Amino acid sequence: MAFSLLSFRNGLSSRFVLADVQREACTSFLRRLVQTPSPSGEEAAVARLVAAEMVECGLLGVHTDRIGNVIGRYGRSGGPILLLNAHMDTVGVGDPEAWKYDPYGAEIVEGWLYGRGSADMKGALAAMVYGVALLAQNRVELPGEVVVAAVVQEEPTEGMAMRVLVNEEGLRPDWVILGEPTNLQIARGHRGRMELRVTVQGRGAHASAPERGENALSAAARLIFGLEMLSANLMSDPVLGKATLAVTGLTTVASSRNAIPERCDLVIDRRLTLGETATRALAEIEAVIRREGIRATVGINRYTSTSYTGYQTEGLDLYPAWLLPENHPLLQLSLSALERHFGRRPAVITWPFSTDGAFTMGEAAIPTIGFGPGDPRVAHTADEAIRLADVHEAAEAYATLVVELLTALARRGSA
Ligand SMILES: [Zn+2]
Repeated sequence: MAFSLLSFRNGLSSRFVLADVQREACTSFLRRLVQTPSPSGEEAAVARLVAAEMVECGLLGVHTDRIGNVIGRYGRSGGPILLLNAHMDTVGVGDPEAWKYDPYGAEIVEGWLYGRGSADMKGALAAMVYGVALLAQNRVELPGEVVVAAVVQEEPTEGMAMRVLVNEEGLRPDWVILGEPTNLQIARGHRGRMELRVTVQGRGAHASAPERGENALSAAARLIFGLEMLSANLMSDPVLGKATLAVTGLTTVASSRNAIPERCDLVIDRRLTLGETATRALAEIEAVIRREGIRATVGINRYTSTSYTGYQTEGLDLYPAWLLPENHPLLQLSLSALERHFGRRPAVITWPFSTDGAFTMGEAAIPTIGFGPGDPRVAHTADEAIRLADVHEAAEAYATLVVELLTALARRGSA
């Protein structure tokens, strides 16, 4: 049965619904996704699975890009582009003893599917593919194109794979929906983060005559207290909350355990709230270093990374904060579309963690929201699980959002 955009807009059919057989296929896909371990940098097997399912579901132009993202699309090229983003990688299992269920078993108990990555975020990935499948199978004529991007290595370096997709592969989405878990509410931003390295210089000497040296560890201790005072006074945003600073690592360099440490390296996790820049955050720490009279330098950590396709990237561990304005059409149109779809208006939330939005909105200024199945609180925990009904609801809601948002973008473009 053809299911045209016109009939949808005229309200002849109020919403997209997965048939029972499609629900079962979506669940089966999610089970296979969870049963295929995909720690960051080792997404090859799961990427093959995603590409095959996209083809099976009627997505077009399915391919793997240079860094290993799997891309599928549907609709008419040359018009506006809506990007649906889901990452394929997951964090590790942690302590296996903490799990009641097999982390890669994808067991289903009373409507919940258990396993690593179920909520963060293979559930959304399955929902996005099956949401677009609904459009493809109903031959919906879109006034633009929806692109599903199943990306790599989000967990350690969020935004990196999206940067490759946009800056190197040349994809130019007008708007982005991230499928990170929101419990089917809408997220509009999160704090940013940066990883900093501080090198404290001392001077080595025999520990039997400490006065001849300069103890880098003692200087680092003074610095840590100074940083704690700084941390208490960091700025706060009314929506995203307070910035934070935490010293999370310390190593010393000394010629032996009876020598005065000549160097000390600190790692700092710094969460940036809205309005804070990296330059400002670095300057605040440099001011503490000067005040304490310590010989030290601070800088943003550089990562180097190799994807499963062998593609190498490097960059700074700097992930900006972002917040989509409350009155932005992407947010308002999504709220009203989902209100009609679900019969209730979703809440607008912010995420406690960082996502690929650090690049799409934080760096590239592409309007971005989050909408996904699953509870954000179970991400990275033992017995991570997702309610299958929410995955199916998300698939149907993605189909609705694609139609409504592309229609609005096309109208704006022709206005
Ligand atoms: Zn995630």
